[in-house]
Amino acid sequence: MSAPNQPKPLQADTFIAACSGLLEAGQVLTETDDLSRYGRDWTGQYSGMPIAVARPNTVEQVSELVKLSIAHGVAIVPVGGRTGLCGGGVPIEGQPTLMISLERMNAIRGIDTAARMITVEAGAVLENVHNAALKHGLIFPLMFGAKGSCMIGGNLSTNAGGSNVVRYGNTRELCIGIEAVMPDGTIVTGLHGLRKDNTGYDIKNLLIGAEGTLGIITAAVFKLSPEPVVRATAFLSVSTLSATVDVLNKLQDATGGAVEAFEYMPRVMVDAICNGLPDIRQPLDEPAETGLLIEVASSRADDAEMLDDGTVALQNRVLEVLGELMEEEIVVDAMIAQSEQQRADLWVMRESVLEAIMEHGEFYALDISLPLAKVAEFVETMDVFCAPLGVQPLTVAHLGDGNLHYCLTAADGHEFADLPLEAVTQQASTMLSELGGSFSAEHGIGQSKLDLMKQLKDPGQLAVMRVLKRALDPNNLMNPGKMVPDL
Ligand code: FAD
Repeated sequence: MSAPNQPKPLQADTFIAACSGLLEAGQVLTETDDLSRYGRDWTGQYSGMPIAVARPNTVEQVSELVKLSIAHGVAIVPVGGRTGLCGGGVPIEGQPTLMISLERMNAIRGIDTAARMITVEAGAVLENVHNAALKHGLIFPLMFGAKGSCMIGGNLSTNAGGSNVVRYGNTRELCIGIEAVMPDGTIVTGLHGLRKDNTGYDIKNLLIGAEGTLGIITAAVFKLSPEPVVRATAFLSVSTLSATVDVLNKLQDATGGAVEAFEYMPRVMVDAICNGLPDIRQPLDEPAETGLLIEVASSRADDAEMLDDGTVALQNRVLEVLGELMEEEIVVDAMIAQSEQQRADLWVMRESVLEAIMEHGEFYALDISLPLAKVAEFVETMDVFCAPLGVQPLTVAHLGDGNLHYCLTAADGHEFADLPLEAVTQQASTMLSELGGSFSAEHGIGQSKLDLMKQLKDPGQLAVMRVLKRALDPNNLMNPGKMVPDL
């Protein structure tokens, strides 16, 4: 794209007036309360005051705001629901920044029920997309705790994962078209919804997972799936963490790959939830050391069929597998949800994890992934490493994807401030390298993992990332200081 621009010294008032001239009245926020609210990260760990927050409602307005920012040398931070966990969606302190919030671009532009696709704007809240699809007997399967606040543009930019990736894939795999504004203001339109389109470089996949460093996503087309008509949801106590792989594969074999969620919740995690949030109760009489929340679902009528004895075909098949696993002493105990309420209670427990960890006290979270067969080795070795250091890991995992949220907290009798976190994270990094894992599974890099990018990312890939960033954003104004270190 273009060569670096040499802007004149910033006249903030002139810039803000020009932004206001592009948008409807009241859509450029400059009050201190607004600026500090938008400039604060969900975790509270990162903040930076923007000079203004602009809330456009068309892609053309986004493009004009980007061109204006380049002309004035102002950095841009695109934001959606501001639930990101890596400090990617706030300005870098001291750098004049315009935040562009996509919240007013929240329309469901259309649903093609025949092709099973939905076209939505970047500011649509994830849960609203779920509801729009459900009206047509279809689902948008991206699912996690922040669904009531996070937005589609943020989901794409972080390539969000969640609980259903084991069956449907992450956001990248669900997306088939994108509309966006590049760092020089160019609008790219790719909302055709073609499943096959081999016409050159894939801009869509370049922008997905780029955390706003290569442009601003304004709309996208997604695949939808048939709505399940029957589910089997259960909380299991499993003999060991390494045995969970057997549980997953046997359930997949027996159901034709219908496992939708496979979530690991060890005893310390469930205890922390039940202690911190009194409305949530232990799912099993004897708490599970290795707990698993599983969900299997089907849209097939014969799976939903009620048999003469009042039981349901899919649930029977799952019970049969669990029975066999109990005989093999792999599954120790199981609570099968008998009603929609019991299923909802299990999911409330799962989705309360972050709240419970925050309730527990200060923490440092690792969001990592490993080959499935290596997860147990990582957890068991790390737990032994942590114990004498006063570190209590609170773990929850999208285990079907090998994705662990390994949160380091202070064990009883220890102060978080005194924990040797550097030694623990260094040990985790070493193990990840040895076992072929990744230091960022689904939350992204933002500001919080820039050091790990330098330390652990393959140097060849990092070099290509820098070349791309410099080529597309020569002024380094599109979400600077995030994801790509040392620019
Ligand atoms: P924001 O926080 O607003 O932004 C995130 C990043 O994307 C920033 O770098 C921002 O600059 C960029 N961005 C935002 N919108 C755009 C756009 N339109 N164009 C370009 N760049 C943009 N994540 C998971 O993957 N799986 C989980 O299971 C999960 N569970 C969570 C549970 C809770 C309780 C919370 C608080 C968070 C959880 N997250 C999870 C993290 C977070 O919700 C996701 O990363 C989400 O996708 C962020 O969406 P957002 O709209 O809030 O993005």
